[in-house]
Amino acid sequence: MALKVNEIFYSIQGESSCAGRPCVFVRLTGCNLRCSYCDTRYAYEGGDDLGINDIVERVSSLKCPFVEVTGGEPLIQEETPTLIHRLLEQGYEVLMETNGSCDISQVNDRCVKIVDFKCPSSGETNSSDLKNLERLTDHDEVKFVVGDREDYEYAKGILALTNSNICRTNIVHFSPVFGVMEPKTLARWILEDCLDVRLHLQLHKMIWLPDQRGV
Ligand code: SF4
Repeated sequence: MALKVNEIFYSIQGESSCAGRPCVFVRLTGCNLRCSYCDTRYAYEGGDDLGINDIVERVSSLKCPFVEVTGGEPLIQEETPTLIHRLLEQGYEVLMETNGSCDISQVNDRCVKIVDFKCPSSGETNSSDLKNLERLTDHDEVKFVVGDREDYEYAKGILALTNSNICRTNIVHFSPVFGVMEPKTLARWILEDCLDVRLHLQLHKMIWLPDQRGV
């Protein structure tokens, strides 16, 4: 009943509608994808084997009610849904970031899932499990990391695939690839097309250096 944990740290949330909130991050080791722009390659391997009780204890020592489980890809580890369930039972508000390739329905509905559907410039667009669009609960959020116009058109196409207007039921983020896509260009495209999405900038990279965890 152990998970491979890359790091547990306390910082400012930077990747969702909760951006700006103090948060404990539980970063799990390993990822099944290799995105071209990945900024957490250090999490592909290494880390410690920790039992769920040990993880909860370390989280508790940081005295913050808000926890994000992230990676790598958290759902490639079998025990991740159990960890999230335990954190929820302990009264934490829990967010999980996932790369969209694994079935999100295995995670307790009370956890807010941030599902990143991969666009073509990631090199991993075929890895997305588009059935996850039907598995979203209303409080889950969707993210597209956009590196160029092709990515932007792809993301628009995915939104058009959904029968209901997903932008009304869920928060949808369009996030420029850091250092590659000009935020103002993406902003212009969103405005020109009147898309009901959020332009999302990675807050922690504005506060600290791009490769720093913060604090
Ligand atoms: S899914 Fe995330 S952690 Fe995995 S390769 Fe892509 S950007 Fe990196």
